[in-house]
Amino acid sequence: MNELNLKGKVAVITGGAGIICSEMAKSLANQGVKTVILDLNKDAAVSVALAIEKEFKTASIGVSANVLDKTSLQAAKNEINEKFGPIDILVNGAGGNSPAATTKQERMEGTGNNKMEETFFGLQTEGFDKVFDLNFKGTLLPTMVFATDMITKKSGNIINISSMNSFRPLTKIPAYSAAKAAINNFTQWLAVHFSKTGIRVNAIAPGFLLTNQNRFLLIDEKTGELTARGKKIINGTPMERYCVPEELTGTLLYLVSDLSRFVTGVVIPVDGGFSAYSGV
Ligand code: NAD
Repeated sequence: MNELNLKGKVAVITGGAGIICSEMAKSLANQGVKTVILDLNKDAAVSVALAIEKEFKTASIGVSANVLDKTSLQAAKNEINEKFGPIDILVNGAGGNSPAATTKQERMEGTGNNKMEETFFGLQTEGFDKVFDLNFKGTLLPTMVFATDMITKKSGNIINISSMNSFRPLTKIPAYSAAKAAINNFTQWLAVHFSKTGIRVNAIAPGFLLTNQNRFLLIDEKTGELTARGKKIINGTPMERYCVPEELTGTLLYLVSDLSRFVTGVVIPVDGGFSAYSGV
């Protein structure tokens, strides 16, 4: 277990109370990493931290902060430094889509017979801003605040959470797709910017999981069955199933350990073959 040499390191996981990131936090705790479950939802963060301490006998704290508010992130950093010392690992996991930034129609009709409010033209700028900011600025700001410790230590790891949308956009969700594409670009940019500091910056692009943010698109509320879109995803995934959060943790541990010490600026898909498959 010690071969990854992560024991005693301090990791901040934003969105740590969520489905994917709580699992990522557990996998780090299992390696002896002290975990900070940072989330907007304080109760959920504390409850994940308590569960981690109980299961892995490794220190974990739940901290409330908004990844879009630098002041709250700085207050969180002060609390973390006081309790755990300097931060070694940052997982930028807070993110997601919203119905307010989702078109009802996949593609406009060529006949001119469109309900304009169901297309690109009906998107609300506020909804677009909300999703773009949460995913992009919600990665930028925590990195600005938490990576300062890594600069001082001359070592550290930053893991951004991208998506399949980042390579080729999915229909209906242009803000989320644009923001995740920006995450890939930023991962490369920051990896170069930090390349002489001892800090590596990489990203994981998960395939499709059934979670709170996409359930409304993938499961029919009335029948509980997969929607047509949900089935399309399965058809586009050569392994013919959804991903489960545990399947992302091997890549996370690889990226935050010295196993990947010459790896920086990459985005690794963990997607059951989705990004490799043309559909034919
Ligand atoms: P989730 O909704 O289960 O978790 C997101 C967490 O982020 C929640 O606990 C929420 O409270 C927290 N959060 C939201 N806004 C915040 C803010 N402003 N400040 C701090 N915390 C905030 O989502 P998930 O599906 O586990 O997604 C985690 C990450 O993985 C996201 O970046 C998402 O875009 C990405 N992702 C998800 C999928 C998928 O299929 N679910 C696929 C690819 C990528």
